[in-house]
Amino acid sequence: MSNQTDLVVLGGGSGGYATALRARQLGMSVTLVERDRLGGTCLHRGCVPTKALLHAAELADAARAAPAHGIRTSFDGVDMTGVHAFKDRVVDRLHAGLRGLVGSSGVTYVEGEGRMVGPTSVEVDGQVHAGAHLVLATGSSPRSIPGVTLGPRVMTSDQALRLDEVPGRVVVIGGSVIGVEFASVWRSFGSEVTIVEGLSGLVPLEDPAIGTQLERAFRRRGISFRTGATVRGVTSSEAGAAVTLEGGDVLTADLVLVAVGRGPVSAGLGYEDHGVALDRGWVVVDERLRTSAPHVYAVGDLVPGLQLAHRGFAHGIFVAEEVAGLSPDPVEDVTIPRVTYCEPEIASVGLTEPQAREAHGEVETYAYDLAGNGKSQILGTAGFVKVVRQADGPIVGVHLIGTRMGEQVGEATLMVGWEAFPEDVARFVHAHPTQNEALGEAALALAGKPLHAHG
Ligand SMILES: Cc1cc2nc3c(=O)[nH]c(=O)nc-3n(C[C@H](O)[C@H](O)[C@H](O)COP(=O)(O)OP(=O)(O)OC[C@H]3O[C@@H](n4cnc5c(N)ncnc54)[C@H](O)[C@@H]3O)c2cc1C
Repeated sequence: MSNQTDLVVLGGGSGGYATALRARQLGMSVTLVERDRLGGTCLHRGCVPTKALLHAAELADAARAAPAHGIRTSFDGVDMTGVHAFKDRVVDRLHAGLRGLVGSSGVTYVEGEGRMVGPTSVEVDGQVHAGAHLVLATGSSPRSIPGVTLGPRVMTSDQALRLDEVPGRVVVIGGSVIGVEFASVWRSFGSEVTIVEGLSGLVPLEDPAIGTQLERAFRRRGISFRTGATVRGVTSSEAGAAVTLEGGDVLTADLVLVAVGRGPVSAGLGYEDHGVALDRGWVVVDERLRTSAPHVYAVGDLVPGLQLAHRGFAHGIFVAEEVAGLSPDPVEDVTIPRVTYCEPEIASVGLTEPQAREAHGEVETYAYDLAGNGKSQILGTAGFVKVVRQADGPIVGVHLIGTRMGEQVGEATLMVGWEAFPEDVARFVHAHPTQNEALGEAALALAGKPLHAHG
């Protein structure tokens, strides 16, 4: 038996459900296939649960710090059952809301494992769902290290999110976003944490100044790290785990988190059999997210590039509008904001300084130190706002680090996306005392009229 709709979407994560919802708004009939839970990685194993843990971690730090602010509190420890109850409440509420949204939108929701069985069709439990167009949105899953066996003491983020106790000593393999977020949580919960990163610094995809500042802050927080270090092997027993580095050093721990990136979910799903070209499992697309097969698109983590939920949303909206003939502007990774929610938070959009130099030759930069920002001083955070502009040209990159600085990335996105000049931004007044002022101050400085900055 075959069910025909305008659009079939395989995968109900950020990319897939955004495609489905926008397509319904545009009057298309839509089938959305999901084998697990609507909302995908972001809602159930990614953004939302990790940010709930990070909020609990922030409360632990606040409880410790409160007496220094004249507030009588004491930190008595972490009750992981309570932490999970809080995290799961948030996830469940959002999941129920999303189910309601998709249900009331008129999307035909099909539960089950789907597989591409024709040029634009998917089979689920013996039923074929054919679309005039097919959107592949099967996302990504955690990678491990060849030869490393996962288990109770060696795990990826999927299992780490459900740990029922705070590990005494942790080794985190991978100093990028997921690794530093978990390192931050566990340190706030009281663990001894060591991060092992193969490249020469933490958060290696960020502007080098951000990495240096994060390392300084982590050192101050008592988080250890070994950069430029290659893992040779990981062993574990009931008693503990050990990470052996190239050169012979052995790091022992109660728990090892393997946070070495995520790979595409595409194996065995029939993509290549029906003309969808893959590159090491990733779906190859053009700038309009068209795969090599006619009428087949791909969105979200399955498409090489930034692995972020809001990129998946943007891809989904784009593809629905494209199929509807609205000719939307392509989604470019360079204008997508990136936030790492460790303490201190990191946020960025656009080009790093080295990338900007490579792309534009001469650039000007200004880093406004949060030491001069009243609200940041109240929060007790160190950090900066670094703005990169083309020489006498528009802002091409903004890089932020400091407690809560992720919240400032919205304005930075508009600056880069609208190709604003610092002079344009400097005309607008930023509220005092906010951390947002730091963006205004950096723009004032680059426009040649610094206020609370050394020119
Ligand atoms: C620990 C962690 C923290 C993160 N934090 C953030 C963050 O703070 N901010 C942010 O923007 N991003 C974050 N991310 C990344 C974000 O979760 C992903 O970018 C996003 O979920 C990608 O959406 P997607 O729809 O492409 O894929 P996914 O969310 O992976 O969804 C794919 C869906 O397809 C389904 N599926 C797969 N195969 C089949 C099949 N054969 N049949 C039916 N269904 C199938 C899966 O069950 C899944 O639900 C985080 C990720 C992790 C792991």
